[in-house]
Amino acid sequence: MDRDFKIYNTLSRSVEPIKTKVKGVLSFYSCGPTVYSYAHIGNFRSFVTADLLLRTATSLGWQVNYATNITDVGHLTEDDFTDPSGEDRMAKALRSKEGEQFPNVWDLARFYSNKLIEDWHLLNLVEPTVRPRATEHMREQIAAVQLLIEKGHAYETSQGVYFSVTSFPTYGQLSGNTLDNVLEESVRDVVVDKEKRDPRDFALWKKDDKHLMQWYSPWGWGFPGWHIECSVMAMNYLGDEIDLHAGGEDLIFPHHECEIAQSESLTGKQFARYWVHTRFLQVEGEKMSKSLGNFFTVRDLVAPKDEGGKGIDPLAVRMTLLSGHYRKPFNFTLKTLKGNVKHRERLQEIIDEVGYSDSAPIEYEGEMGGALQAIYTRALDAMTDDLNTPLALAALFGGTKVIQSGLSGATEADLTSVRAWLKQMNDLLGVIHAAEAKESQTEKVDELGALVEPLLQARQQARADGNWGRADEIRAQLTELGVEIMDTPEGPKWKKVAGI
Ligand SMILES: [Zn+2]
Repeated sequence: MDRDFKIYNTLSRSVEPIKTKVKGVLSFYSCGPTVYSYAHIGNFRSFVTADLLLRTATSLGWQVNYATNITDVGHLTEDDFTDPSGEDRMAKALRSKEGEQFPNVWDLARFYSNKLIEDWHLLNLVEPTVRPRATEHMREQIAAVQLLIEKGHAYETSQGVYFSVTSFPTYGQLSGNTLDNVLEESVRDVVVDKEKRDPRDFALWKKDDKHLMQWYSPWGWGFPGWHIECSVMAMNYLGDEIDLHAGGEDLIFPHHECEIAQSESLTGKQFARYWVHTRFLQVEGEKMSKSLGNFFTVRDLVAPKDEGGKGIDPLAVRMTLLSGHYRKPFNFTLKTLKGNVKHRERLQEIIDEVGYSDSAPIEYEGEMGGALQAIYTRALDAMTDDLNTPLALAALFGGTKVIQSGLSGATEADLTSVRAWLKQMNDLLGVIHAAEAKESQTEKVDELGALVEPLLQARQQARADGNWGRADEIRAQLTELGVEIMDTPEGPKWKKVAGI
C-alpha cells in the first residue's frame, strides 16, 4: 500500500496528503536566499525543511525535481514587507566594511553564492536538481513582464512596471490578506510612485539607469522586481503547474502571494497546489541580532576555534535544527546544541565501529534487525506526518541506544542490519556525511597500514633468518593491534579483525 505524505498546506490551511500531478514524481520549488551576506541559521532552518521534504519524498520512492534559486540581484527592499528600509541590499552590502574586499557588486554576489553552497554541503543538504540564478534568467523575466502587460495585468509608469492587483481577483488567497486588509495598508507606505493606479500594486520592473546591476528592457535600463524572478524560474524548470512550493513564513506575504498572482495571470493555471512555510527561529529566546551577539551564521558555529568559530560538528547543528517542528517558532540554544554534539558523537562511534556504506543492502535480520527496522518505520511515519522531526530524531537516538547496547556481541547479521539502518536513517534525515564517513574509514585503515607494514616486513625477515621466536613476538604485536595475519602463497596478507 502506498504511504501518504501529509503536510500542512498554507493554501488550504489544513494538513493533507500530497497528491502529485504525475504519480510518483514531485515537482518542488523552494525559495533560496539573496546573496548579499552569509546565510544565517534562521535562513538555514527553512532550507533544512525543504531538504527534509525532498528526503522524505525520496524515501517513499518518489522522484523529486527540485529547484531552489539564488537571488543574486539586488531586489527592491520595498518588495520585502519585513524590511522596508527602502535600500538595495546588495548596494548596501558593498558599501559595508565586509564589502570593501569586493571590486564590484557582481563579485560580491558570486562570493556569497559560493559560500552559500559550501554551507549547504556542510549541513548535508541534498544538491537540488537545478539551482537557477536570477541574473541568468533576465531574458525570461523581461518576457514575462511584457506578457503581463499584453494580458492587461500590468502597466508602465515613468518609474517602472507594476502588477495590477485588482486584475487578479483572488489576490490574498494564500496570506488571507484581502485588498482592504490592514497589512496592505502598511505596504502602501513604502511604495512611492504617485503614478501607480492602486497603492497596493507591486513592482515587476524598476527603471534605474544608475543602479549597480542593470539590464536593458523595453522600458529602458533597470532591474526586475524580486517576485517575478521566482515565478519565472519555477515555471521555466518545473512547468506551469508545480506540486509543492516552500519558503520561510516571512515569504507568505508579499513574495508568495505575488508569485501566485503573476504566474496564474500568465498561464491561467494553478501555480502550486501545496505551500509549506517554516516558522521563524530565535536564539536563546530572542530575535537574532548582531547587536545582541546572538547572530549565528553556519560558519560562526562550525569554523575551527582558531578561525573564530566554535568548532562544532555541522551535523550537530543540523540535528539541533531538526529538534524543533518546522511549524512552531524555534528557540535555538547553545544548551540544545551541546546535547546534540553528544548525540552526534554517539552516532559517529557506531559508524567508526561498523562502517557506513551508501550502497549497503537494505536487509534487516534477527532480533536486532527487527528492532531497528521498527525504529526506521517509526521515523518514516513521523516524517510523513507533517515532518515531525522531534519524533524522528527521538527514533534516531533510540536506535543508537539499541545498537550500542548490542554491539559487543553483534553477529554478521546484526552488523548488516545496523548498516541498513544507518543508510535508511541517513537518507531520511541527513545526519551522516556519507563521503566523510567513507574517508574516515579509509584514513584509519591507512593509519593502521603504516603500523602494520613495517612489522610484517620485520616478521618476514625473522622467518627468512629462521628466527622463529622473533617472528612469533611480532605476530603477537600484530594481534594486539587487532590485525590477523594469513600466510598465503603470494606472501603474508593481513586484515583488521577488531575495533580500530
Ligand atoms: Zn522566491
